[in-house]
Amino acid sequence: MTFELLSVGTELLLGSIVNTNAQYLSRRLSELGFNVYYTTVVGDNPERLKAALEIAAGRADAVITTGGLGPTGDDLTKETIADYCGLKCVMDEESKRRIIERFSRGHMYMPESNFKQAEMPEGCIILQNDNGTAPGAIVESENCKFIMLPGPPSEMKPMFDDMVIPYLERFSDGVIRSKSIRVFGLGESAVDEMLGDLINNSTNPTVAPYAKTGQVELRITAKADTVDEAKAMLEPVREKIESLFGDRVYGTGIDNSMENVVVGILRDKKLKATCAESCTGGLIAEKITRIPGSSDCFDCGYVTYSNVQKADMLGVSTETLKKYGAVSEQTALEMSRGARGRSGADIAVAVTGIAGPGGGTPDKPVGLVYISICAKGLHKAFKLNLNGSRENIRERVSLHALDLIRRCALGIEIKI
Ligand code: ATP
Repeated sequence: MTFELLSVGTELLLGSIVNTNAQYLSRRLSELGFNVYYTTVVGDNPERLKAALEIAAGRADAVITTGGLGPTGDDLTKETIADYCGLKCVMDEESKRRIIERFSRGHMYMPESNFKQAEMPEGCIILQNDNGTAPGAIVESENCKFIMLPGPPSEMKPMFDDMVIPYLERFSDGVIRSKSIRVFGLGESAVDEMLGDLINNSTNPTVAPYAKTGQVELRITAKADTVDEAKAMLEPVREKIESLFGDRVYGTGIDNSMENVVVGILRDKKLKATCAESCTGGLIAEKITRIPGSSDCFDCGYVTYSNVQKADMLGVSTETLKKYGAVSEQTALEMSRGARGRSGADIAVAVTGIAGPGGGTPDKPVGLVYISICAKGLHKAFKLNLNGSRENIRERVSLHALDLIRRCALGIEIKI
């Protein structure tokens, strides 16, 4: 079975957003043993969308579209495909009910135009959307299957993984199951080297590493005759990988982020954490509070950019600041101690560093960061020398801080 990906959206053509949906789908399909021969991007224009669809349907067994399922006039994917296949769009009552429920749950006013999202091509397979309002759909025309997914990646990915993969299994000569293992604190090449033959010689299950900022996700995928067989094939590889990386493995699951894991552990252990941030400017607190339920384990954080505030808000001594500077092990240690003492949290992390691009000196170059942790019987600081952009440095530092909280809460080795 061959695929073409058709990403719909003028924003993509203008370069306002990156086509991460195509990247995700290409990656997933190749893992599943399907060939993607073409990826096309087209704007929200009915004629050009129709032309792109005709070309795609003429050369692929299945076309996966993303975007253009929304309620506005320029969201035309479904209508154009229905038109191409000679189908009418009819109201699907279950989809309509779910849209109304979603709006009333959020106490939001629902514009009438939202019902357009529940009008589905006759006879299609409906893919209900648990993470947004627009349902997806599969239309099976004689020569080609059209799989329509919503544009927002947070809606598209779970819909693809939970509903499209099981659908595609019938076109594959077996069942396909994957498992994701997330490793923090090692670069992609180090992970590659450690995996060695596990990657190079992997055919079934396959092991594929995906590098993200500061972390690597390892996806194990097995194809077998039955689900039980596929799961049994995944298990020994999972065990091998987990024993290889030990406590560097922080979680499993495709969308399981470090902050998700950390908040889960803190809530589980009934611990509270806080953070004192200089160069990350609130990023650690932002990540923690992104997770629903984080109020159980996070009361406050401190953003202390200036020396005055490091002293005022956290009690860092002016002598320390004068003698060692704001970017120093001593300051980081005093920041974490101050944050813990003032917030009453069980665990405090502190970061101070030079994120760049300016502000570096030969003694203290861009990328120099001190990170400290303070908890009962624990008060430590680590020095990091990072490369990369300001954004990249800040992201990696915030992940290191979260990883230290994770290690401390789990009672495992405190290391960077
Ligand atoms: P909605 O119901 O939110 O309107 P939709 O299915 O109509 O969803 P679009 O309106 O085309 O989708 O896109 C919504 C948002 O999804 C975009 O603003 C963008 O943030 C994201 N998005 C769309 N297409 C892609 C893509 N190919 N890659 C990454 N993000 C995308």
